[in-house]
Amino acid sequence: MKKYGFLGLGIMGKAMAANLVRAGFDVTVWNRTKERCFPLLDQGAHLGNSPAEVIAQCDITFAMVSDPTAAASLVFDIGGVLEGISQGKSYIDVSTVNPATARQIAAAIKAKGGRFLEAPVSGSKKPAEDGALVFLCSGDESLYHEAAPALQIMGKKSFYFNEIGQGAQMKLVINMIMGTMMTAFGEGLALGEKAGLNMADVLDVLAQGAIDNPMFRLKGPQMVNNNFTTAFPLKHMQKDMRLALQLGDELCQPLFTAVAANNLYIKTRETGGADEDFSAVLKAIMR
Ligand code: NAP
Repeated sequence: MKKYGFLGLGIMGKAMAANLVRAGFDVTVWNRTKERCFPLLDQGAHLGNSPAEVIAQCDITFAMVSDPTAAASLVFDIGGVLEGISQGKSYIDVSTVNPATARQIAAAIKAKGGRFLEAPVSGSKKPAEDGALVFLCSGDESLYHEAAPALQIMGKKSFYFNEIGQGAQMKLVINMIMGTMMTAFGEGLALGEKAGLNMADVLDVLAQGAIDNPMFRLKGPQMVNNNFTTAFPLKHMQKDMRLALQLGDELCQPLFTAVAANNLYIKTRETGGADEDFSAVLKAIMR
């Protein structure tokens, strides 16, 4: 029986690893803050003492951590992934990072004889719990196929792009669109409220037209009730905007509305909203 590892049990990792355990997979987990492993251990997972140990014990190890710094430190620090990797071992990073970090990790894993796939996900807490994520993969194609049973447990669809870094690029493009959509939505709600419109009416009218979408339908009622319960932490949304803007800079692509949206996320982040849901950007708009 193939052994799977899972490093990083935050909002997303916890739900994804739980789905693998529930499906009967043999899963070993590790998280920087050890206590976050305990619910998974109760469900039947094994405990790993370091990323290196998990990699060495498992055939395929997934990682889901905050950002490029965390993803790199998981691999390159003492006791990290690189110490455990060898021929026959595979590593799949599903965190949202920049293309340069994905390439750096890919080269290091390959140099030690291991296989690497970057596979950032589209979809938030609920899709992670429901096994309905979308994987955006590039890297070792044989690993992409070998990991398919696990990807199918955790997701509803997987894409494979040829060049390493393209998974990260696709993810940043998608999240940049989402981030700017959310600020436009927030400004609409703020303007409607100032004008004295009924917020429920605004949402109802939106839901009838061409810009109806699952995000407005899910977040809209919560936002008008000042409910910013975290599904996607705002600090991660702002990180994704920052990484998308860096990509635009590198490629000489102006991103006017994304810059404005990013400033709103920075403002919210710096005024106490970092760990709230990204929809809390509404507070910076209404302030
Ligand atoms: P989260 O709840 O904040 O969890 C972050 C995880 O990263 C935790 O396990 C944390 O460990 C770990 N971590 C942070 N810095 C680390 C370091 N230096 N070394 C080792 N581990 C470290 O975040 P999340 O919402 O699960 O998101 C995780 C990733 O998925 C991010 O890249 C995010 O952009 C992406 N993503 C999120 C969503 C979403 O809706 N939430 C959707 C798609 C993609 P501790 O427990 O020790 O802090």
